[in-house]
Amino acid sequence: MTCLLCGHESHKRLGEKNGYGIAECDACSLRFATPTPTPAELDALYGAYTPNDFYSKKTASKIARTKRRLLRYMHMAPGKRFLDAGCNIGTGVEAGRLVGLEAHGIDIGQDSIDSARTLYPEGRYHAGPMESLPADWGQFDFVYSSEVFEHLPELHTYVAALAARMSKGAILFITTPDAGHFRVPSDFASWGEVRPPEHIVYFSRKTLAQLLAMHGIEIVKFEWNFKPGLKALARKI
Ligand SMILES: [Zn+2]
Repeated sequence: MTCLLCGHESHKRLGEKNGYGIAECDACSLRFATPTPTPAELDALYGAYTPNDFYSKKTASKIARTKRRLLRYMHMAPGKRFLDAGCNIGTGVEAGRLVGLEAHGIDIGQDSIDSARTLYPEGRYHAGPMESLPADWGQFDFVYSSEVFEHLPELHTYVAALAARMSKGAILFITTPDAGHFRVPSDFASWGEVRPPEHIVYFSRKTLAQLLAMHGIEIVKFEWNFKPGLKALARKI
């Protein structure tokens, strides 16, 4: 198994979870589940996904939280074209619309997109992987990717597709669990965010910055977080 980030062949084993090994790359220190779930396994996982009541009840607070994040950074974006890349049931798209952005959303789950179209019909949506984003949607000035990176079996495919659709100077805001956080247990595999086959990549500030840099995107800053979650603001160079 080669590292999903740097392609290095050797890694050390940190433990196991749900029948997967949990590994750390000897070269770049990326932590990931091994083996990587197959496309068929992931199709089964996300094809069957339906938003549950628990998730739905939290939508109002999710929209409010995303609005606050967008309002904090939208002045840095070179324009108003907004994409939620991994939009689930559309709360981020709705938040974008409410703060005056041209709101678009893409998600791999057809069920999620169907829900988004019903719940927040004023957004523009597409179901499929990032590479399938319709060409006529053009370039984006502000891309939001919340709790997506930890799910990705092919990091470079996703980030390359993302980078290709960001205008020069476009802003990217990412949230993903923080494997380098001081509150992550020393028995790494026992951490709640380690849950393959859903969560298969566990970033630190260093590995996330390395991945983005390989696609011409530089970190502007990481927000401080008492919880083990990365909140990264980045910009397309
Ligand atoms: Zn590596």
